[in-house]
Amino acid sequence: MQIYMPTNVYSENNCVMNHSKELAVLGSKALLVTGRHSSQANGSLEDVKHALQEEGTAYVIFDKIEENPSIETVMQARELGIQENVDFVVGIGGGSPMDAAKAIALMIANPREDERILYEACELGCLPVAEVPTTAGTGSEVTPYAILTIHARRTKQSISHRIYPALALIDSRYLKTESLNTLINTTVDALAHLIESYLNTNANSYNRMYSEKGLRLFAEIKDDLLQCRRFGGEPKQTLSDDVFDQLMQMSATAGMAITHTSTSLPHGLSYPVTYEMGVPHGKAVGIFLPGFLKFYQGKEDVRLALGQMCFAGVQDFTEYLDELLGKVEISDDLWKKDVEMIMGNQAKLKNYPFAMDEETLYKFRR
Ligand code: NAP
Ligand code: FE
Repeated sequence: MQIYMPTNVYSENNCVMNHSKELAVLGSKALLVTGRHSSQANGSLEDVKHALQEEGTAYVIFDKIEENPSIETVMQARELGIQENVDFVVGIGGGSPMDAAKAIALMIANPREDERILYEACELGCLPVAEVPTTAGTGSEVTPYAILTIHARRTKQSISHRIYPALALIDSRYLKTESLNTLINTTVDALAHLIESYLNTNANSYNRMYSEKGLRLFAEIKDDLLQCRRFGGEPKQTLSDDVFDQLMQMSATAGMAITHTSTSLPHGLSYPVTYEMGVPHGKAVGIFLPGFLKFYQGKEDVRLALGQMCFAGVQDFTEYLDELLGKVEISDDLWKKDVEMIMGNQAKLKNYPFAMDEETLYKFRR
């Protein structure tokens, strides 16, 4: 058994300002990588700028990261980073800017290489990365993964390099500007990480601690989320500060879980659905969770996982998720391509502890 969790994680209100020194020590000039709007609205970008100013550390901002970031955008940000001579990268936002920050840090550290190195298995240097999450879903602030959109292949894939953030600064107050749909979709992503890590070939009793803790956190807030869906207003009007804290903790814990095991079939199946239909990541993954649990061969493990979440069985879980997420219709054509793609994806299949066949996989669509 092995456990390795190298990221220095702080989680508290005012986290960025409280740990400005740990941030500034990463280099002399930072590239701040963020999306177009949300980090300005929720105060996270301002906090990072302020923290760096306090420490007398220079920075430059790249704020054009799109959802499901593409290789092209990563390369555009790399140009700015090289031109500005930055020596560390700070990702601020949801999983998209945080993942992009890792890939950008790798590309800046290897200025003579082109984008092909992202998907080549080779040893490469990388600039230090700090992450400031503003969604509670991906856990990218603690994972070594960076998932990019590959337009040439009409899908998404994690880059071949493991880039552990040096520092994660987690402040749940940034979640309060989230829309109901973003909050729910991202929570389901974290839930999928916990489940796919628990029911994984690489799971062992050390790394399962993360999933168990995260699933219990989910059990505590799952009724609040459903109330929020039923009420339909802004999450900040319905959820308490404690629930926002628990969501952030659940997401980071889920990130620690998949750091050790990676994800499994629901994630693999979700990527073409996101690419072709524009379904947000967490919602696309959530479509496949009930089928994954229903047809999983290790029934006792499924019972244990559902027990941690306080669900009586798969049916109970499915009804909950249907109400929380809503349903998505996937066309026969896309579904056929999706199943074929997964059956050819050894990296994902090997994380499933049993043999998987096409016939069973077809049943995952509801
Ligand atoms: P996201 O794509 O980063 O952001 C989704 C939307 O939410 C964007 O419009 C963003 O706006 C907005 N947003 C972010 N924070 C907000 C806030 N606090 N208030 C209001 N709006 C906010 O969403 P995500 O689900 O966090 O990340 C998904 C990506 O992460 C996918 O590419 C997925 O494949 C990847 N992922 C990575 C890992 C990993 O281990 N590295 C794991 C799972 C998923 P702006 O664009 O204006 O910022
Ligand atoms: Fe995910």
